[in-house]
Formats: sequence, structure tokens, C-alpha cells
Amino acid sequence: MNSSQIPVIAVFGGTGHQGGSVARYLNEHGAFKIRVITRNPDPVSSQGIADEVVYGDLTKPETLDTALAGAYGVFLVTNYWAKATTEDWAQTPVGEWSDPVDEYAQGKAAVEAAVRAGVKHFIWSTLPDTKKISNGAFDLPFWTGKAKLDEIVTKAGFDHYSFVEAPFYYQNFLKEVAPVPQDDGTKAWSLPMRPESRVMHMADIDQMGAIVLGAFLNPDKVGRGQHMSLSAGTYSWADVVQIFRTLGHDVVFNQIEDGVFDGLFPGAKNVRESQQYMECYTYFGPDADQKIALAESVATEPLVSLEYWLKANIPS
Ligand code: NAP
Repeated sequence: MNSSQIPVIAVFGGTGHQGGSVARYLNEHGAFKIRVITRNPDPVSSQGIADEVVYGDLTKPETLDTALAGAYGVFLVTNYWAKATTEDWAQTPVGEWSDPVDEYAQGKAAVEAAVRAGVKHFIWSTLPDTKKISNGAFDLPFWTGKAKLDEIVTKAGFDHYSFVEAPFYYQNFLKEVAPVPQDDGTKAWSLPMRPESRVMHMADIDQMGAIVLGAFLNPDKVGRGQHMSLSAGTYSWADVVQIFRTLGHDVVFNQIEDGVFDGLFPGAKNVRESQQYMECYTYFGPDADQKIALAESVATEPLVSLEYWLKANIPS
């Protein structure tokens, strides 16, 4: 096969966690050419994870035909939290967040461009439909907003299409969910969840690529709309505290009132409701075990435990 015959996989989010992992695993494997799509093509071109780095913006559908031209496969992730990194974030009222990224519109634009480009295998990073699972009791925008796109992907007419689901990233412990230093020298998590609820599926998001590579290599096995969930374990906050302590971190968990948590940051109410949803249904929902097993069956390497990852990434 000469190089022009090697199938091209177009990767959205290749400068971020999920897409970056996908680009790295596919690039190291060698069966595919990797095309990273970014709004800012310069910084990634030097990272060595892609054969091509091209401009594309999910909010500008007219940029996507060129970005996807000639691609065999697409990995799509959208970023619900993109506006949380902008300067406007500091001005955003706490509580419920009324102006998030429209992941459905972005994803639909990508699917439509992929259909026009003749893409054969489309992989979408979705999350469970919390509204359906809970019979309407929960409708978490950064979960259901993704799940709504599943039907568009399903009906698009791709030869193969697959769904992957990202868990609570271990990487959250480095930043967004890092324990907060207290006056007494300990570090604390303060959240509304019950500490004993063992419902949080977690993994090293840098291993998302092991599942997605496995899916692109096995279209007949997982390319008929199967859902695969990345998870190396299911944890409670009590488990997390115990693991951190075993590794020498002086951490505690405080369960706080819903109303107190809702006032902490924009979107906090949605995050609090997502914790309540998890306590009822677990992170990946009632069919979690089946989706996790399918992901493991195609993963190109074993998934690392929280203990292993913490030792390497958060030394005590
Ligand atoms: P990330 O590391 O924050 O990176 C965001 C990526 O999105 C960047 O590569 C960025 O590319 C790309 N992007 C943003 N807006 C874009 C646009 N308009 N057009 C094209 N590309 C765009 O993101 P991530 O962590 O991989 O994924 C974020 C998603 O993961 C969120 O939707 C979140 O809900 C979901 N998630 C998070 C967790 C968690 O525990 N943290 C768990 C499950 C799911 P450029 O800036 O280069 O254009």
C-alpha cells in the first residue's frame, strides 16, 4: 500500500485530552494517517501526533467540508465547557448555566460534513441519555446534549459507526476536582454526594485512544452502533480518600448542602444534579457493565488503575 492509500482518520479535539489520546494511539499504531482538526493549526503541527493538521471550527459548518475531505474515519468530541476557558466566564452568574456550547448543533454539522465527504466509520464521544434513563427526573445538559446526537449519527448512513463514552477523568484530580488546601494542613473535597456511593466510573483519559483505535480496527465487531465505555474502576468518594491516603496524601471528604454547592461556580447546579443522577443510576447508567466489557474487548492495552495513575502523576 503506498502512502496515498493509507486510510485517513480525521480527529476533532486532537489538541485536547480525548482527541489528543486518539491521535497518539492511532499514530503509534501506523495503520492510519492522522489528520488533526483544530481552530488554530500552528501549535499542534510540532507535536508529532499527526500527519496533517488542518483548520476546522465546529461552530462554522462551512469549514468542515475541506477538513474532512477524503477521510475514511472520523473521531468526534465536542467541548461543552469551551466557554469556561474564556474571559466571560468570570462574569457568568453561579448556579445554573444558561449559555453553554451547543454540542448538538456542532455535532450535527460534523456528521453532515462527514456524510458529504463519504466517511466510512464515524466514532462519536457521547454520554448516556440521563433524561431517558431517569424517566425525565434528570436532564443533565453536558450528558443529554451529547446523547441527542446519537440518533443523528445512527441515521446518517455510515457503513460503520460507533459510540464511545468518557468516564470521570483521573486528570480531573489535577485541576477541576483537585482537593482544596485547608487551614489545618489537610486537603478536602466538599461535594453534595454521599461518601459511600460507589457509582463513579473513572479512567485515565489518555487511554481513550486505546478504545478508539480498537474500534477503528474492528468495524465489524463494534461498528454497528455499539456503545463502549472507558472505565478502569468504579469508585466512591470514600474509596478515593482511602487510595489517596494510602499513597501518603492527607485528604478528607466533606458532604455539603446542595444549596451551598450550587453557589460555588457557574454550572454548579448541573454538576450537583449529575452527582445525584450517578447516585441513582451510576455514571454510565444501567447497562454500564456491558458497555465497559465491550470497550475492554477491543482496547489495545489494559487500562491503568487509579492507584497506578496517582503514583505517577500526583506524588505525595
Ligand atoms: P479539552 O482537553 O478541554 O480540549 C478541547 C478540545 O476541543 C480542543 O482540542 C479544541 O480544539 C476542541 N474544540 C473546542 N471547540 C471547538 C470548535 N468550535 N471547533 C473545533 N474544535 C473545538 O477537551 P476534552 O476533555 O478532550 O473533551 C471535552 C469534553 O469531554 C466535554 O464536552 C466534556 O463534557 C466531556 N467529558 C469530560 C469528562 C471529565 O471528567 N472531565 C468526562 C466525560 C466527558 P482547538 O482549541 O485546537 O480548536
